[in-house]
Amino acid sequence: MRVTAVLLVEDDASIAAPLARSLRREGYDVEAAVDGPTGLEAGLTGRFDVAILDIGLPFMDGLEVCRRLRARLPQLQILLLTARSEEVDFVDGLDAGADDYVAKPFRLAELLARVRAAQRRVAPDRHAAAGVRVDAAARRAYRTVAGGAEEELHLSGKEFDLLRVLVREAGTVVTRQKLLAEVWETSWMGSTKTLDQHISWLRQKLDDDAADPRYITTIRGVGFRFTP
Ligand code: CA
Repeated sequence: MRVTAVLLVEDDASIAAPLARSLRREGYDVEAAVDGPTGLEAGLTGRFDVAILDIGLPFMDGLEVCRRLRARLPQLQILLLTARSEEVDFVDGLDAGADDYVAKPFRLAELLARVRAAQRRVAPDRHAAAGVRVDAAARRAYRTVAGGAEEELHLSGKEFDLLRVLVREAGTVVTRQKLLAEVWETSWMGSTKTLDQHISWLRQKLDDDAADPRYITTIRGVGFRFTP
């Protein structure tokens, strides 16, 4: 999965440093800036999914950075941080185009949850497991091959839908009923042969071996589990 890129603009190192560390530990690609203009310049490159902006910043405040980023980047998720003493209220933040707002002092866990929520708004349906990546919006799927390169999988519509559900639920058993309901929009168990046929085609395209699966494990009588 493409890593979510987070821009963190915060001048207070005692907040920025632990926050950047936690975000990196959670798997985000983090770039930090310590003043308004530097943050704005970084943000305008368009390479970020989420921007976390402190409001009280040197040279240009976070609200102005927010306004300027929003004017150019409608898709960017912007989360504002503010201290109570700065007396900037939520409405100012919304007027500036922010998507969310967290008051200092905040608990790290709460902020990370807000970032995850922002990430979901950016990439509602992008999933990856065991080196297989599914981009539902683009309807494309990829597999990491030896050497670390990615190759695109050429799947039929139903094979794609099947893979999307299995990868999304990787690590858990997806029942036959659920797959039939979600992929074929039927609960008719008579179509279970169709399901087995598509699983078989999918395995061929993944070079997977049902007897010694790398990706798709059959749970007899129940369903299938994709390797997490
Ligand atoms: Ca500040």
